[in-house]
Amino acid sequence: MDDIDVLTIGAGGGGYPAAFRLAAAGRSVVMVDPKGVMSGNCLAEGCVPSKAVREIAHHLQRQRRFQESGLPGEVRVDYSGVVAHKDQVQTHRYAQHDAQLRATPNVTLLTGTARIEDPHTVAVDTAQGLRRFRARNIIIASGSDISVPPIPGLEHCLNSRDLYALHPPLSRLPASMLVIGGGYVGLETASFFAAFGARVTVFEREAQVLPGMDPDMVALLAPLLDPNIDIITQAEVRRVEQTPQGMRVVFFDGAAEQHRTAEIAFQALGRHPVIPAGLPEIGVTVGAHGVQADPTLQTNLRHIYACGDVNGRTPLFHAAVRQSVAAAANILAGDRHADSVDFLSIPTTVFTLPAAAYVGLTRASAAARRICVEEGAYSFAEDSRAQIFGETDGEIRLFFQTGSLRLVGGWVVGIDAGNLIGEIGLAVSRGLDARDLAAFADQHPMSAEGISRAARSLF
Ligand SMILES: Cc1cc2nc3c(=O)[nH]c(=O)nc-3n(C[C@H](O)[C@H](O)[C@H](O)COP(=O)(O)OP(=O)(O)OC[C@H]3O[C@@H](n4cnc5c(N)ncnc54)[C@H](O)[C@@H]3O)c2cc1C
Repeated sequence: MDDIDVLTIGAGGGGYPAAFRLAAAGRSVVMVDPKGVMSGNCLAEGCVPSKAVREIAHHLQRQRRFQESGLPGEVRVDYSGVVAHKDQVQTHRYAQHDAQLRATPNVTLLTGTARIEDPHTVAVDTAQGLRRFRARNIIIASGSDISVPPIPGLEHCLNSRDLYALHPPLSRLPASMLVIGGGYVGLETASFFAAFGARVTVFEREAQVLPGMDPDMVALLAPLLDPNIDIITQAEVRRVEQTPQGMRVVFFDGAAEQHRTAEIAFQALGRHPVIPAGLPEIGVTVGAHGVQADPTLQTNLRHIYACGDVNGRTPLFHAAVRQSVAAAANILAGDRHADSVDFLSIPTTVFTLPAAAYVGLTRASAAARRICVEEGAYSFAEDSRAQIFGETDGEIRLFFQTGSLRLVGGWVVGIDAGNLIGEIGLAVSRGLDARDLAAFADQHPMSAEGISRAARSLF
């Protein structure tokens, strides 16, 4: 049995930022992860590889547009080259993390699977045998995994691992693709493959794609997606069949069963939290969305923290990192409340082509809380950078509390949405108002000009 200060179960975004911060403060830290590498599913099969694919798709779209305005040059897609680029980025980042780990004293990464034996004891199954640790604090950061609901034939579908893992099974471009699930993973993937030239059909059970996201934002985004994408909403997928013509998805459209056939089928029906064995048995509360944690990331056992996808609060990488850093601060403060996370000010981006991003409250969510808002808007049709790229569709929309004009949220559809939402999110989290934003000299000719312009539209 080794006595240590802190053990993290998982070395992804919910685990390693805390581990490094605590190690820098002189605590002895062990991270446990069966992958044997840092960065969890984000680097293994999520954010980084999917965005490596996305940026090539975006580049192709831009190149085509420049070509339409007379710039010579043939636009061709070699999907195996796209995969090679993605693999190279992942490999590079793994090497970078490895070097960071080697250079940092007080923290080690143990390859193995952790299970909890009692509130301070964690057993780790490794290839070399069982190891036991007694830790003053434990951070549960075991993330999430792909959900496979009981739909007959779903096991024949590809999933995000098959597309985005290192050296993935899918390394050639299909002519056609069926995407089951219109959440962000499904819609992003549909967008990339449509840009590469595949014909894509998306099936979504709810009345809008991106269920749960702001309806005004989604209503603006959906018609701007590639015309190669056919979106079928209120489609309840009943089964998936392998036929000589390809993969067939059978769905119920509210009146009758229908079907579509394509070369491949991809399922993106959500993720579920990964709960380490033994955790419920020691009395840590686990709810329907994951391990229950408050904004300080403490569970009901105050020395045990739960960060990232495992708590189901905001399943995004930067959200996991923010939580991990807050957990470290609270551990360093002796499990007192030194830091807590404002989940409402964490931005979300859907990296479709074009992208959509939001933070805080919007018209619909403010109304649901009976908060009156005033809106400031800026259309990318007016924007010089958008005109340079020919990406003039979309807008920035900001929401200010009536009276105080405090910024409570915003969304962006269109060029640079993922970058712009960062500035808007910072303003939300710092409590800035319309006058603060209007008075800032956002750079020209950058799309951020639209943020101060949207604020100025109120005066
Ligand atoms: C296709 C796709 C695209 C995405 N794109 C984005 C994006 O663009 N931006 C964004 O912010 N987010 C994105 N995400 C979400 C992002 O990947 C997750 O939110 C993030 O990885 C969560 O970090 P985490 O540390 O909580 O969990 P994970 O990254 O899942 O890490 C948890 C780790 O815990 C380990 N583990 C599990 N059980 C045990 C155990 N018993 N013992 C030891 N270790 C264990 C796992 O091996 C894993 O490595 C994407 C996800 C997917 C699937």
